[in-house]
Amino acid sequence: MAEATPILIALESHEGTVRGTSYEALTAGAALAEQSGRELIALVIGSGVTDAAGTVGQSGADRVLIADAPELSLITVDGYAAALDAAIEKTSPGVLLLAGTTAGRDIAGFIAGKHELAHLPDCSTLNIEGEELVASRPVYGNKMMTKVRAALDRTVVATLHTGAFKAPVADSARDVTPEPLEVTINEGDIRVSITGLESSAGQAADLTSADVVIIGGRGLGSEENYKLVQDLAEAMGGAAGATRAVTDLGWRPHYEQVGQTGQKIAPKLYVGVGVSGAVQHTVGMVGSDTIVAINRDPAAPIFKMADFGLVGDLEEIVPKLTEQIRARKNG
Ligand SMILES: Cc1cc2nc3c(=O)[nH]c(=O)nc-3n(C[C@H](O)[C@H](O)[C@H](O)COP(=O)(O)OP(=O)(O)OC[C@H]3O[C@@H](n4cnc5c(N)ncnc54)[C@H](O)[C@@H]3O)c2cc1C
Repeated sequence: MAEATPILIALESHEGTVRGTSYEALTAGAALAEQSGRELIALVIGSGVTDAAGTVGQSGADRVLIADAPELSLITVDGYAAALDAAIEKTSPGVLLLAGTTAGRDIAGFIAGKHELAHLPDCSTLNIEGEELVASRPVYGNKMMTKVRAALDRTVVATLHTGAFKAPVADSARDVTPEPLEVTINEGDIRVSITGLESSAGQAADLTSADVVIIGGRGLGSEENYKLVQDLAEAMGGAAGATRAVTDLGWRPHYEQVGQTGQKIAPKLYVGVGVSGAVQHTVGMVGSDTIVAINRDPAAPIFKMADFGLVGDLEEIVPKLTEQIRARKNG
């Protein structure tokens, strides 16, 4: 019985676009579907997401369901849970996978609790072994991995460790016609309403979806010097973020913080400027493809994980780097 149950992926959207991190769940789901011969069903949740759903089909899903309603334009646990309830009812999935975003983690916990389902959070590997979903998840700041398993006799809910899976490459030859999913949301069902969305003005791009992220650390020495990080990010078409030391000092807002108590990022290129590489920071960026560190201390821990290291004073290195990149782009 369990062999036939599909893999259901829930994808978050914002303003009609599927969030980049949600595609990581498609990759993880596609691998599970392939190894166990199951169907991969993607559920796109949001408002005005029909166009976006086409791209999801090209990214590997066998079936694409669309939960499209004005009440789903902003992500709320109750709204998304209503969509997921309908999708679970319709598809009886063996595994329900969500990206490890703040919303994904909230919704997964809620759905698992509501339906009394097994819940595997923050998975960095996933496999189906016999009648069980087997996952590993990092603990103690990535120093150890735990292996966890849950029986597939009922739906198992799992979220992913951000950056552990890369988004799939879309195949334009694939053609999956999205199917509307009927979702009932009555007045009062959404108990927490979002009263406003504050834009992080000044951010070149969302930290979690940017291909290039430049992080400024305490080594900058002053709030004014954060401009070096912003200029480099702007030259490289990336986003600028900060360590907790920097946000604690009030040089940058908390939402720009990356790490254990900040955002989890997995860009193609991470550049740490005056960042020591404390484990509470590195757990939030360890999934980056290429890591570059600029630090005047050759013994700084970040050099142990860096692919490229520049030892020297950031005030000398960073402006030259920015200048060189701008010059190359312009000529
Ligand atoms: C519970 C808990 C949660 C935490 N969560 C987070 C989190 O989410 N994110 C996070 O980032 N931290 C977090 N921290 C804090 C973390 O432990 C570190 O204190 C912090 O990451 C250090 O930030 P930093 O690298 O900017 O500063 P520092 O550790 O002070 O490093 C500054 C670096 O800059 C270099 N430097 C100095 N001057 C120059 C120069 N002129 N040129 C080049 N290099 C220079 C120095 O050699 C040094 O390596 C947390 C801590 C705790 C206890």
